[in-house]
Amino acid sequence: MVSSPNWRPGKRVAIVGGGPGSISSGLALIQRGYDVKIFERQPECKAIGGAVLLSTPVLAILRCYGLSLDNVGAYTVTSFANKQGLERVKLPFNAEVEKRMGIKGWHYGVLRSSIFKKMLELVPEGVIHANHEFTSYTERDDGIDISFANGQQLTADILIGADGIRSKVSRQAFGEPHLFHTGIRLWLAWCDHIPGIPDNHGVISHDWQYQASFFPMLHEGKPGFEWWVVEPSWDGKPVPDDPKEHLTGILKDWAQPMPRFLEATDFKTQVYRWEIFNRPSMKKWSAGRVVCVGDAVHPVSPYAAYGMGMAIEDGYFLAKALDGVDLRDSLAVSAAFEIYEDQRVDYVNHNMEFARFLGRMFHSVPRPLANIRDLIFDYTPVLSHFLGKGYLKKAEEETLSLKELQVT
Ligand SMILES: Cc1cc2nc3c(=O)[nH]c(=O)nc-3n(C[C@H](O)[C@H](O)[C@H](O)COP(=O)(O)OP(=O)(O)OC[C@H]3O[C@@H](n4cnc5c(N)ncnc54)[C@H](O)[C@@H]3O)c2cc1C
Repeated sequence: MVSSPNWRPGKRVAIVGGGPGSISSGLALIQRGYDVKIFERQPECKAIGGAVLLSTPVLAILRCYGLSLDNVGAYTVTSFANKQGLERVKLPFNAEVEKRMGIKGWHYGVLRSSIFKKMLELVPEGVIHANHEFTSYTERDDGIDISFANGQQLTADILIGADGIRSKVSRQAFGEPHLFHTGIRLWLAWCDHIPGIPDNHGVISHDWQYQASFFPMLHEGKPGFEWWVVEPSWDGKPVPDDPKEHLTGILKDWAQPMPRFLEATDFKTQVYRWEIFNRPSMKKWSAGRVVCVGDAVHPVSPYAAYGMGMAIEDGYFLAKALDGVDLRDSLAVSAAFEIYEDQRVDYVNHNMEFARFLGRMFHSVPRPLANIRDLIFDYTPVLSHFLGKGYLKKAEEETLSLKELQVT
């Protein structure tokens, strides 16, 4: 039996999984006076590779946990362009959001491992229990019994499933996830700074079937670049033997600076390949004393959905909804979970669905329709309209609703 003096009935929160959604939930709940235990199946909590973009609300949440934003990431102006380098849209900054949140810009590029390490440093000792693989739970009227593959058991008041896309918590609570391939394969890479490439400008560029993009980032305060290529794919698509040769074939005629990243990157240690899977949108993320955050209920595509950011936001909103609740009281717990779901489910589902739409629109349209689409994006404001309405507007509204995180 896992035990601890800080395990008071009414305050006991067990979190399964040790990724960003878990650590955010844990930090937010500890701040609100709950007793938290995090169970990770690996020997330690570790960020999955590569870099990520984090947006203003996520940075404001991390700031409120005590994470310093000094040098946390690279401030970036983002544009969409075509393969030849013609700019299609420059994503605007909302001056009101910048002022109220006290954060310049919107997206910041960071290396996952460096930001995740900073998050872990905020977790008090004794909270994280590594080598604990969750297997199942049994719910009772006044608590929940949780079992692990190493034979240990624990009784908590609530269980948070933060165990990623193949979540066992989510599967027991909600059944088979029906994961499906989104039609996208992503090559995600990073490299050190390259002289001559501006360090405050990121470009997301497309030809008729590929996306090739880059963003400046900071890695432990040092400048570098995150770059990536998205290609059409399917479950079981063969993987090229030589990723460098494959990506060189795609990027050789691309506008500068894309081809320059190839030589600056160590293909053994700085390139990751992902097949992107999703699950159908869910309407409920809680059942009884169980609630989920992050990929466990909304695995993400790399199009505008920013799963690490949304997992971090989930944890913060969940803790806010639970604030002051005696977790033995199942009615109060259900009411808090409903508030959390009201605030998150539709917003996140919209982002997920919009991300899948962008993925289909850029990677699944055959020629000659794709050429017509590209002419429209090159010479009309349609793309700007899609991105403003489909993503930025809602994200900005959500950010402005976080009044307690604002500096003015
Ligand atoms: C290619 C790609 C690019 C991305 N780019 C971005 C980006 O730019 N910005 C962004 O915000 N997000 C990005 N994301 C998404 C982001 O990585 C995920 O959405 C995020 O990691 C989800 O966090 P999580 O905590 O929910 O789950 P995870 O990070 O998956 O963590 C789950 C944890 O649970 C543990 N676990 C699993 N099963 C068990 C068990 N049975 N018992 C105990 N522990 C268990 C795992 O070991 C893991 O540590 C990207 C994702 C992909 C695939």
